[in-house]
Amino acid sequence: MKKTNFKLLLIILFVFLFFQSCNSVSKEKEYQKIDIALGTLCSIKIYTEKNANEAELILNGLFSELDRLENIFSANMENSLLGRINANAGIIPAQIPNELYEVLSKSIFFAEKTGGAFNPAIGAIVKLWNIAMDKGTPPDAVELKQALLKIDYKNIELNGTEVFLKEKGMSLDLGGIAKGYAADWSKNFLLKHGIKRGIIDLGGNVLVLGKKHDGSDWKVGIKNPIIGEPKIGIAYISLFDKTIVTSGNYERFFEYENNIYHHILSPETGYPVKNNLRAVTVIADSSMEADALSTSFFILGIEKSRTLIKSFPQVSAVFFTEDNSIFIIGKEIEGLNILDNRFHLKKQL
Ligand code: AMP
Ligand code: MG
Repeated sequence: MKKTNFKLLLIILFVFLFFQSCNSVSKEKEYQKIDIALGTLCSIKIYTEKNANEAELILNGLFSELDRLENIFSANMENSLLGRINANAGIIPAQIPNELYEVLSKSIFFAEKTGGAFNPAIGAIVKLWNIAMDKGTPPDAVELKQALLKIDYKNIELNGTEVFLKEKGMSLDLGGIAKGYAADWSKNFLLKHGIKRGIIDLGGNVLVLGKKHDGSDWKVGIKNPIIGEPKIGIAYISLFDKTIVTSGNYERFFEYENNIYHHILSPETGYPVKNNLRAVTVIADSSMEADALSTSFFILGIEKSRTLIKSFPQVSAVFFTEDNSIFIIGKEIEGLNILDNRFHLKKQL
């Protein structure tokens, strides 16, 4: 075929495919369901040519699955599988489904990668702080010291079908990773049901599926991390087929005698991590990885995180410090837009 004919054919093919895709997406409609699941407010938006009944079935089906996952992973429900495993610590091993095996083995992987900073066996301490949050005063120092003896993640005995917590009083807490797993799970559920475009938002743990119908990127907002200020967007990131997960001290905290006590805890001291950070946002392909990493980065701080992120070449992290500086580490981010001029992007500490 002559070169010019070939070019012409390519142009015709391109125009044809372009109109085809415009045609097919123009019939897509948006469906959304917002409900409480996994102990938080979740929103799932899908874009599809399916009719309203079919879309509703998919969304309802997904929310029932999220309830099922909560019944496995929740540390706050006595009757969840995790609750029963914790109640049997030091007594008997428990049979576990594949979902829990996946999350536990990844959690142990991150515990090893972070030198124990990310700790899925931190439950004994989390419980004391949860009680403290309700009361608005820090827990008793002696009780905290005793609880610190019950958080060695190396005492989690895990094989493909069973888990055993070797010491009485030990307790698993997957609050730093389970929502990420649920977001990945939701994505696969939607793909299996023929949905290729949507936004999964599990209490701020966001995953965007595909691109917007006009072929452009989604714009995902980052909340103002300053404690005491309205949680409106102070920046947004343009992206597609990615997940974006934030860990921040503003998410759960109480104030006591002019100190802020938040929910991300140091396994070394048993107290909320004290550093110069307000929040860390992670952008990645896997939401479970992003969830575990955002919690880990928050605990480790910027410098140690620089070393850790080298093992995850596809991951980017945005650190928000107390003086409103923003630092990016890991993979370069193209589409970050800062909307609040009190925040400044810096290259070095
Ligand atoms: P995230 O909001 O994903 O950063 O996770 C915070 C939650 O993870 C807390 O509410 C606890 O349930 C749990 N958590 C707290 N400290 C740690 C830690 N050092 N390692 C793992 N999980 C933690
Ligand atoms: Mg997390």
